[in-house]
Amino acid sequence: MSLCPVCQTGRLQKRSMAFVEWHGRHLLVVNRMPAMVCDVCQERVYDYEAIEILQKLLWSQLPNRTEPSRAGIRKT
Ligand SMILES: [Zn+2]
Repeated sequence: MSLCPVCQTGRLQKRSMAFVEWHGRHLLVVNRMPAMVCDVCQERVYDYEAIEILQKLLWSQLPNRTEPSRAGIRKT
């Protein structure tokens, strides 16, 4: 069990929380994000690994990225 970094009293419990974050003009909502929640002050500490995976996923799906269908057509 890890101690809460904010109140130094509560203990962090593993839970699945809703995660909401703005990325530019896009709102990102994840229904079940692994997180640690303090049982005293309710501070949420999200799983950094999960956030990293999420962001990689997000960046690979950016709309302005080169479309695979057009990649081979262009002649120089
Ligand atoms: Zn706390």
